[in-house]
Amino acid sequence: MTGLSTRCCIVGGGPAGMMLGLLLARAGVETLVLEKHADFLRDFRGDTVHPSTLDVMDDLGLLESFLARPYDKAERLHATISGQRVTIADFSRLRRRSNFIAMMPQWEFLDFVRDEAERHAGFRLMLDCEGVGLVEQGGQVRGVEAVGVDGPVRIAADLVIAADGRRSVLRSCAGLVVKDIGAPIDVLWMRLPKRPSDPAGSGGFIDTGHFMATIDRGSYWQCAYVIAKGGIEAIQARGLEAFRREVASAAPLLEDRVSHIADWNDVKLLSVAVDRLERWWKPGLLCIGDAAHAMSPIGGVGINLAVQDAVATANILGPSLADARIDAAALVPLLEKVQARRLFPARATQALQVAIQKRLLTPVLQSSGRQRPLGVPWPLRLMQRWPMLQALPAYAVGVGVRPERVRSPAAARPRVMAQSTG
Ligand SMILES: Cc1cc2nc3c(=O)[nH]c(=O)nc-3n(C[C@H](O)[C@H](O)[C@H](O)COP(=O)(O)OP(=O)(O)OC[C@H]3O[C@@H](n4cnc5c(N)ncnc54)[C@H](O)[C@@H]3O)c2cc1C
Repeated sequence: MTGLSTRCCIVGGGPAGMMLGLLLARAGVETLVLEKHADFLRDFRGDTVHPSTLDVMDDLGLLESFLARPYDKAERLHATISGQRVTIADFSRLRRRSNFIAMMPQWEFLDFVRDEAERHAGFRLMLDCEGVGLVEQGGQVRGVEAVGVDGPVRIAADLVIAADGRRSVLRSCAGLVVKDIGAPIDVLWMRLPKRPSDPAGSGGFIDTGHFMATIDRGSYWQCAYVIAKGGIEAIQARGLEAFRREVASAAPLLEDRVSHIADWNDVKLLSVAVDRLERWWKPGLLCIGDAAHAMSPIGGVGINLAVQDAVATANILGPSLADARIDAAALVPLLEKVQARRLFPARATQALQVAIQKRLLTPVLQSSGRQRPLGVPWPLRLMQRWPMLQALPAYAVGVGVRPERVRSPAAARPRVMAQSTG
């Protein structure tokens, strides 16, 4: 068994873990990130980089270089409700430096953060290395058990961060209690080609019995077809041709290209979960991002919340972690402080998502067979009449509750890399 020791070990190289790795390394903290995959090149995992995440890049002096990576600019979101196209959010009305969503593949985002983090001597990323357990002593987490390419590794750390996503292994190992808030929906993801004549811009199609979000990715549409929870089996039992017809009637624009759904491998199921840990920490361990609160895909806010958690964690813990005189036990009150800071944004956002699930999505899905077309709801009618109101949903989605700004200092002198202990 290989042994390593570091000040902070982050398990999970997603948006939460990588951003925290960058911020801590920048603050002079010796930081080791473990990622179980060999790279960041995974299939679609959300491409939205919101104005508040762009503000974080700006705080770090990285906005220009970040936006030099390939991305598409989304300034507005639209919905087509029973054939009537309306604008549901206008980000260009936000008074911020970056008043748009940058649609950037998640691997581009993570590669960028990794490249920046690696400029700091204290940062180390171990790919192909899976956290499988915690090292505990007297009720205090003291490190992580992992399996890397060369076999088992034991990493001693003063602080372990579980940023290992919504199926977090570490939070289960720690016995932290998950509160299931519930989601009555699942989502089927698929790609369909975009034609030059298609209207530009992301949004969705809402009609009796159907809800389909369409994300404009330049050359193709990333489609998210919302179904009732567990409905995939019935859909598959009806057959692929019936599913293609269903997609065509959900989004008539796409009718001429549903044949591109060649088989069920082209359709990925996202089993939607909305949950939250009752306590995000125990001595020596803190959960952030989806590991602390799995979000519904409504609003596409999961990445943003994960990044905001990372910023708050670095703001609160960075200076103490950078001070070698502060021991693991003294960090415990700060873990509680991170939860106190980030619980409200997670809770408020989930409450809004649950309300939309109940009051909009479920009635739409249950309206199948209804003869009368769905009307445009009154808040959206008001927004078409007074477009300035389109800034409200843009703020809720693009900035969200309690946006974080980087306050953790950049270290004057970087520390050394994680050291092998045998
Ligand atoms: C299909 C899909 C579409 C989505 N679309 C959007 C969207 O448009 N906008 C949006 O904001 N959000 C979207 N989301 C949600 C978003 O991806 C998450 O909310 C966000 O990525 C959470 O970040 P995270 O870092 O907390 O967790 P994750 O992104 O889940 O990252 C966790 C990382 O930890 C790694 N890992 C897991 N277990 C271990 C282990 N034991 N050891 C080492 N590494 C481990 C994983 O490989 C992963 O890289 C989508 C999610 C899915 C599945």
